[in-house]
Amino acid sequence: MRIVLLGPPGVGKGTLSGRLRDSFHLAHISTGDMLREEIKKGSALGLEIKALIDKGALVSDELVTKLVKQKVEHELDLSKGIMFDGFPRTETQAEDLDKILQAVKAPLDFVLNMDADYEILFKRLTGRRLCRKCGALYNVTFMPSQKEGICDKCGGELYQRSDDNEKTIGSRMEVYRQSVLPIIEHYSKQNKLKRVNANVEVDDIFKAVAPLFK
Ligand code: ADP
Ligand code: ZN
Repeated sequence: MRIVLLGPPGVGKGTLSGRLRDSFHLAHISTGDMLREEIKKGSALGLEIKALIDKGALVSDELVTKLVKQKVEHELDLSKGIMFDGFPRTETQAEDLDKILQAVKAPLDFVLNMDADYEILFKRLTGRRLCRKCGALYNVTFMPSQKEGICDKCGGELYQRSDDNEKTIGSRMEVYRQSVLPIIEHYSKQNKLKRVNANVEVDDIFKAVAPLFK
C-alpha cells in the first residue's frame, strides 16, 4: 500500500501517520522531517532551508524531489507500504512523484485528503509540542503530556517548532491554499482521491480510515 497524506498544516498528518505506521507497518516519508534533519546538520544548505521554513515559504521543488527520490530509490524496502506526508505540495512535485514511483513500478494506491476548519488547525499548530529525544507529538489543548513539558514515552524535553508561531502559520496556510487545488485535480483525474473529515479526534480519524488499509 502506497499513499499520500494531503492536507493543510495542522490537520494531523503527522499524528495520523504515526498511528498508521504502527498499525499497518508503513514507512513514513515526511519531507518536513527530512528538511529539519538537514537543518540540524548545520550545513549551508540547512541554513537556507531554515530561512524559508521560518518564513512559511516552500523549499524548492528540485530539492525536495531529490530528497524523496534518494529515499525511494536507495533507502526504502519497496515490498512494504509507504506513506508520503507533506509531499507533494505542488503540481510539479505531484508529477515528479508519479515519475519516481513509475520507475520502480510502485504506483500510489490512493491519496487521502484530510480537511478541517481553520480555527481547529490554528489551535493544533499553536499548541503543538514535540519531544526532542523521540519526536513524539503532543498538543497542550488536545493531547497534553501527563507532566507539562516532559514526554510521556521517554522523559525527553518537549519543545515548540520555530515555524509554529502565529505569523508563520498565517503564511503556511496561505501557501497551502494557493497550491492545493492543482494537486487535488491531479489525483482526482487519476481517480485516486479519498477524503476524511479531520475536525474530529485522531482516534476517530484513524477509525474512519483504517478500513482503507485492510
Ligand atoms: P506542516 O504540514 O505542519 O506545515 P511540514 O513539517 O510538512 O509541516 O513542513 C514544514 C515546512 O517545510 C513547510 O512550511 C515548508 O517550508 C517545508 N516543506 C515541507 N515539505 C515540503 C515540500 N514538499 N515542498 C516544499 N517545502 C516543503
Ligand atoms: Zn520522547
